[in-house]
Amino acid sequence: MISQNAIDTLRKAEIGARGLFIDGVRIEATSGASLPVTSPIDGRPFASIADGNAADIDRAVKSAREAFEKGSWSRAAPAFRKKVLTKFAELVEKHADELAVLGVRDNGTEIGMAYKAEPLSTAGTIRYYAEAIDKVYGEIAPTADNVLGLIHKEPLGVVGVIVPWNFPLMIGAWKIAPALAAGNCVVVKPPEIASLTLLRLAELASEAGLPPGVLNIVTGRGAVTGEALGLHMDVDAIAFTGSGPVGRRLLEYSARSNLKRIFLELGGKSPNIVFADAPDLKQAAVVSANGIFRNSGQVCVAGSRLLVQAAVYDRFMDELLSATTRLKVGDPLDLASDVGAVSSAEQLNKNLGFVARATEEGARLVTGGERILTETGGSYMAPTIFENVTQDMQLAREEVFGPVLGVMRFETEEQAVRLANSTVYGLASAVWTANLSTAHRMVRAINAGVVHVNTYGGADITVPLGGVKQSGFGRDKSLHALEKYLELKTAWIAL
Ligand code: NAD
Repeated sequence: MISQNAIDTLRKAEIGARGLFIDGVRIEATSGASLPVTSPIDGRPFASIADGNAADIDRAVKSAREAFEKGSWSRAAPAFRKKVLTKFAELVEKHADELAVLGVRDNGTEIGMAYKAEPLSTAGTIRYYAEAIDKVYGEIAPTADNVLGLIHKEPLGVVGVIVPWNFPLMIGAWKIAPALAAGNCVVVKPPEIASLTLLRLAELASEAGLPPGVLNIVTGRGAVTGEALGLHMDVDAIAFTGSGPVGRRLLEYSARSNLKRIFLELGGKSPNIVFADAPDLKQAAVVSANGIFRNSGQVCVAGSRLLVQAAVYDRFMDELLSATTRLKVGDPLDLASDVGAVSSAEQLNKNLGFVARATEEGARLVTGGERILTETGGSYMAPTIFENVTQDMQLAREEVFGPVLGVMRFETEEQAVRLANSTVYGLASAVWTANLSTAHRMVRAINAGVVHVNTYGGADITVPLGGVKQSGFGRDKSLHALEKYLELKTAWIAL
């Protein structure tokens, strides 16, 4: 774990102006324009990034295509790619302190969580796909004897990666690592409010021996650089994590350009269901509070809808309130903080808008609901719980992506399933029960990419992550994610 001393030194590091990373080198944006980077910790600017445009995306895609055609990566032996990616993972681990603090200055995640979720898990993801890639075989089809049907697995070509600001490194690595391992060349468009760690990641990849052009980073505004990547005629696929509206735009861009394939990991409104026979109500309350409030609720799988069975409702709510009020919200670079800052002032205002609307619609505020620590100049919000939430309220239907929990009461299992599935989303969920049959029935009944049982939010790289319904399609993580970045080609050989 990182020490407070290391954090206090690194938080003062001068960052300055950061350029784009194209063809293995840092360069200025074509326009020479830049965007300030403001820290949500204190509301002050501490760096700037290049404000890329369509011409910069085009430069990056050309560099990626040339690298792909050259073949020094795309046609290299998987064992070579494994060697470079393993070295890359080692460098990420070596620079874990630097990457973690840089990321927290950018997006405000509490350092305890950021350290594990960002550099450490990123290194683990890169290593996982490095180790996997020389174990991927083609196939021989079971044809008649007079032909040989071979199924080759080939890289797609140029893959675009667009990620959100909550965990840019971790989510970026879920896409970049399997895409690279499979032999593709990649152009990343980082989120405009948290680009710094991905820029540094590309430098480390280069240091590890990744050939120029194989991994490029173009910073800038989503509506400009993201759109240019989406519309580019020479991009073969885009792996996206972010909001539903932008996901829909990417599908349109694809339709209007070259029909590039689009993989979407979108939002959620995930139900966390507590049955009266939950094995340990206190533990369930602590984990549930963490499951919505860590990283200020800016977690795609956050358990933002809590459904509690009536028989234990009052007891559970007491435990939940006490677990919530024990969470220390504060400077994300203080190891003692449980919850850091909301990523930006704009996001904080959006969250407060949800609070106002929930109150108007008749939900009862149990705790929180306001901006706190205003004297810091940063964007901090008290963990917020509303009860008496009903299905027609905005809070039950729309993703807040902030520290706001809506609680509902249910009587029967059937009612819990109905409420759980009454959303356009289907990303994550959880069920707390000591009854094995109830647990398995709920796993089958809930329409979501993951159902946790007697825990919330646990996972590792070995299991897929992704949603159903309007939470998107395509899976990150696990060996299944590799399939997205490999094309099947048939060879039909008359013998
Ligand atoms: P967002 O959709 O606003 O932005 C995501 C990315 O898209 C950013 O890099 C942004 O610059 C870019 N972008 C913006 N406009 C674009 C355009 N017109 N064309 C192309 N790209 C564009 O989302 P956000 O606010 O950064 O992140 C929050 C959202 O991400 C939430 O909905 C959250 O649930 C979702 N999310 C999902 C997962 C998951 O795994 N399913 C994980 C984390 C976050």
